[in-house]
Amino acid sequence: MKAITVEAKMPGSARLEDIPEPDVRNGSVLVEAIAVGVCGTDVEIVEGKYGWAPPGKGRLVLGHESLGRVLDPGTSGALQKGDLVVGIVRRPDPVPCPNCAVGEWDMCRNGQYTERGIKELDGFMSERWRIEPEYVMKIDPSLGLLGVLLEPTTVVTKAWEQVVAVGQRAFWEPRTVLVTGAGPIGLLAALVAKQHGLEVHVLDRAESGVKPDLVRSLGATYHTGTVATIGFEPDVIVECTGVGQVINDAVRGIAPGGVVCLTGVGTGGTAVGSAVADAAAAAVLKNNVIVGSVNANKRHWYRAGQVLNRADPAWLAGLVTRRERPEAFMHALRRQPDDIKVVIQFTDA
Ligand SMILES: [Zn+2]
Repeated sequence: MKAITVEAKMPGSARLEDIPEPDVRNGSVLVEAIAVGVCGTDVEIVEGKYGWAPPGKGRLVLGHESLGRVLDPGTSGALQKGDLVVGIVRRPDPVPCPNCAVGEWDMCRNGQYTERGIKELDGFMSERWRIEPEYVMKIDPSLGLLGVLLEPTTVVTKAWEQVVAVGQRAFWEPRTVLVTGAGPIGLLAALVAKQHGLEVHVLDRAESGVKPDLVRSLGATYHTGTVATIGFEPDVIVECTGVGQVINDAVRGIAPGGVVCLTGVGTGGTAVGSAVADAAAAAVLKNNVIVGSVNANKRHWYRAGQVLNRADPAWLAGLVTRRERPEAFMHALRRQPDDIKVVIQFTDA
């Protein structure tokens, strides 16, 4: 079968190649790939900056934002042939740490977790893949291709849960949410905040293209410029850019008692020395919490399914801006100005 594979930490090594059918030891459920979303992590792996092949193997099958159709439900009594499914990405570490032991593998304490398509487990960019029944999420068939948005939505449902958990340390009635960055994660964060009945604002650099329209059609307000110029102090900021200056502005611009949730992963930027102490002083004097959030556990995967089911399918469809065939995977990984979510499509949904 065809698969998109990469030699870990080797730039330029990605290729579409023939590999053996998936090993039954990877799980009793056999799935036919429909589509796989691409994200910044895939680009980093292809550029040789990230990623680990399975132990004893040279190459890693790429892809963690899956959507497929069950060919053989295996030992799962809950699945039937033809069901649309998405595979959970992370597996608990083998020790396990206390958090993995209770099913909170997203909060793994020792870093020995594994991840499909990223860390020591083959991903989903192959014509067929296998998975353990307990790591399969069945999706509403009416979602069709939009089920490929489930994985990025789990990142946001977990982040929102963190915001709520932190907020509830005190009397808390949030009214306004600012999302920084209108990529897939930012737009899905805006969707979740909107579904919770909050007044939602989204800030991005783009002054034209699809982003302003997607934000407005959600009933949210679109801003360009900076956090300092939006004209109010948000009760919640969900930071999705990973850009140092935006993070700094978010910490300074949050309302008293407010929560800043960081979901973006960036590097570098300018050293800010005393500015860190200034930002910390602001956080102290305003009782702010800055919380980082990554990955998701089964509870968040379940919630993410509910979020997608409640959303307007036409709006969700607007997030999938480009579909490419597996042969054109390199083209899929190359960012274009109007891209939100690009998917590699193996078969029709
Ligand atoms: Zn762990």
